[in-house]
Amino acid sequence: MEETRGVRRGARWYHAPVPSPAPISLAPFPRRINVEPTNHCNQRCRLCPRLGFTRPLGFMSSALFERIADECAGHDTALWLHFLGEPLLHRELVPMLRYAKAAGVARVGLSTNGVALRGAVADALLTAGLDRLECSIDAGDRAGYRAARGRDHWERVVRNVQDFLRAKRERGLAAPVTSIQFMRTPEVEAQLGALVEAWRPHLGPRDFVMTIDPAPFGDAIDVEPRAPHAPRPPCAWLFSSLMILQDGAVTMCGADWDAHAPLGHLGDGGTIAQIWRGAEAERRRRAHLAGRFEEAGPCGSCRDWRLADGSGYRNALEESDARRGAAAGAAR
Ligand code: SF4
Repeated sequence: MEETRGVRRGARWYHAPVPSPAPISLAPFPRRINVEPTNHCNQRCRLCPRLGFTRPLGFMSSALFERIADECAGHDTALWLHFLGEPLLHRELVPMLRYAKAAGVARVGLSTNGVALRGAVADALLTAGLDRLECSIDAGDRAGYRAARGRDHWERVVRNVQDFLRAKRERGLAAPVTSIQFMRTPEVEAQLGALVEAWRPHLGPRDFVMTIDPAPFGDAIDVEPRAPHAPRPPCAWLFSSLMILQDGAVTMCGADWDAHAPLGHLGDGGTIAQIWRGAEAERRRRAHLAGRFEEAGPCGSCRDWRLADGSGYRNALEESDARRGAAAGAAR
């Protein structure tokens, strides 16, 4: 399978593989694993399903994380330390990042809402070996931020992220490649050009602004992803990536955000490789290849798979540059 198109500046590994038109093939080991350091959060985002959790809240143990990192180190796997929750709330996050890089994990990144991105933690993230940092902003002003994220953190978050970018620039650091992220809602779409220009002066040479199309998370969030390929293809995520939740449950994807149909559990003593090639994962993949999606856990009624071709992840800085270039060309 190929990597998805066009997110520049070192960020391509974060995005999902393209399932079509390339024939789908099973990665020998997950190419990307989302690890959930914690599912606690300090915000209440409108487009996040976590307020509906029935699974317990908690923090991943360092011992479990180190097992995960050790196993991933033998593969070309990107570890993304975020799923539903704010990773910077985990007191051992920085040691975990350092451990993963020292163990030899190829690429390590995370998403943060930026509320705690300051002081010693921000400083440590500049030196922990982190490859990618995604800062979720989601709005262009205080009112929009509060509406999107349910908390009055606008000034604090913008200041934290700008200070982080400045510190990175002043130290001449190329990493972590940092993106400013906006959910591509109609409100954001309407002001996207201004948002990009507001952040442009703060970005380093490889940093960028990105948008993510909102996901339905099964049927938890009332959004409709763009029209699917026809006919429906096997889901690329089932063949390329996994989620490992804070308690060690292993799930297929974000659609199973409350872990109703896990593929396995690392607390049972097994390995990621065993779960990845295990009977349940293989059964669900066979169902997909045969077009019998309803036999594969929550896949039958799922709409999230429409985002698995990576097209919902867009580099808004590149889009803006392309528009500028086209306008300059037309004016000549
Ligand atoms: S089809 Fe939906 S539920 Fe199934 S693996 Fe893909 S995103 Fe997850």
